[in-house]
Amino acid sequence: LTKSLKSSGLHIVHIAAEMAPVAKVGGLGDVVSGLSKALQKRGHLVEIILPKYDCMNHDLISDLKELDMTVHSYFDGQQFGNKIWVGIVAGLPVYFIEPHHPGKFFWRGQYYGEHDDFKRFSFFSRAALELLFQSGKKPDIIHCHDWQTAFVPPLYWDVYSSKGFNSARICFTCHNFEYQGVSPASELASCGLDVHHLHRPDRMQDNSSHERINPVKGAVVYSNIVTTVSPTYAQEVRTAEGGRGLHETLNFHSRKFVGILNGIDTDAWNPATDSFLKYQYSADDLQAKEENKAAVRKHLGLSSANASQPLVCCITRLVPQKGVHLIRHAIYQTLELGGQFILLGSSPVTHIQREFEEISNHFQNHPHVRLILSYDDALSHAIFAASDMFVIPSIFEPCGLTQMIAMRYGSVPIARRTGGLNDSVFDVDDDAIPVQVRNGFTFLVPDEQGLSGAMKRGFKLYMRNPDAWRDLVQKNMAIDFSWDSSSAQYEQLYENSLARARKSSREN
Ligand code: ADP
Repeated sequence: LTKSLKSSGLHIVHIAAEMAPVAKVGGLGDVVSGLSKALQKRGHLVEIILPKYDCMNHDLISDLKELDMTVHSYFDGQQFGNKIWVGIVAGLPVYFIEPHHPGKFFWRGQYYGEHDDFKRFSFFSRAALELLFQSGKKPDIIHCHDWQTAFVPPLYWDVYSSKGFNSARICFTCHNFEYQGVSPASELASCGLDVHHLHRPDRMQDNSSHERINPVKGAVVYSNIVTTVSPTYAQEVRTAEGGRGLHETLNFHSRKFVGILNGIDTDAWNPATDSFLKYQYSADDLQAKEENKAAVRKHLGLSSANASQPLVCCITRLVPQKGVHLIRHAIYQTLELGGQFILLGSSPVTHIQREFEEISNHFQNHPHVRLILSYDDALSHAIFAASDMFVIPSIFEPCGLTQMIAMRYGSVPIARRTGGLNDSVFDVDDDAIPVQVRNGFTFLVPDEQGLSGAMKRGFKLYMRNPDAWRDLVQKNMAIDFSWDSSSAQYEQLYENSLARARKSSREN
């Protein structure tokens, strides 16, 4: 294996199903690379383990090479070889696991949504730990993310620690409690976990379907540190309405559970250097932002007749969580208010994708509305730069990144007050909030009236008071959404947990 760099900081290993920009579906990918980069900058040795997907963006991996070793890992009663690749992504060392399993687990042309996702990712979790174990690494922290790698904490404590691989404390971050990987209990045995031992109310038994097991619950029970991605969401998931069945588990384990607001990768998302933009710009050169708006309008065939016509944008996965009916409403409301609208989004849900295809066809040659129903990273950068307002009408939102990216690109968010949106978007008209932090338009009730009210206030300020609008744009561009403060909070959690472990080993 590649030699670990010398570092006086901690040795942190992230095990995850996504990492931007090579393998990204949503915010998880951004967080894994953004947090890792920030921790590396703080002097820690950070390594990442990912599946080697056929569909990932191989061009963005430098020095990718196959290691001269095969890691054998247990699955379904047999040992399977894994080819290990290593490369550099965004300045970080990344190991890619390529299983030699007849199921060709990561050779499917897509990241998720396969009938055997539970098998694919429980296999990966086991193989990732086996890689660390066989290479003799002694990480201080193993940080896993979401249900796909939630098998790591129970595997680590029940299978590996007794083999002497026990240097690490385990951190689990849940990026969205909607996805818990609940499955029939018997499936757990494939990766070598003991079903009888774990299928219990205080361990991995699902709180509602008692014959099933819940990987996210298992990770909450078995990790030393459990986090989610914003303080408000951490509170919401501890209630019966927000916890998706896990509120009691989270309340029971509340001492190790915290919400830390995600940052954004301010190198990747920087309008002053962004090579996807036609014109780079900063807060004191908003003319270039206007030119990006003109370029995107031209590129998408929207009318350029009125340069100052406000452009409202939305970039999102089209899933119920995001308030798809409100996104649809925002299109019509924008037209009614005299603006233009661009939606960049795609849906894994067939009927939603079809519904938006119909709307897209309806507006095919419309001068003021364009829907692009695909995933397009390059175009997303151009749209952030072009947009004046950005709508995020989520029903629930663990953190949300697009509101922060939008602000960094000089767009004003119109957001529902929930989860991480509540921790990052503060209403311009709310006298209870200090003026200096007010940055957008918010609404609480997730219905058309609530969204329309916030949009109308946004349009009013934009149209009637261009100077105040420009001040707001400049203020938003200056907000610090970097990982600096959040990565310091993660570092503190890691260090506290390691200190507790040292203390208890001295006492025993
Ligand atoms: P989630 O993780 O729930 O999808 P987030 O707001 O946390 O939502 O993160 C979404 C990320 O994915 C953002 O970086 C956003 O720009 C990006 N994104 C979403 N949809 C698309 C798309 N169709 N094309 C390009 N980027 C997209």
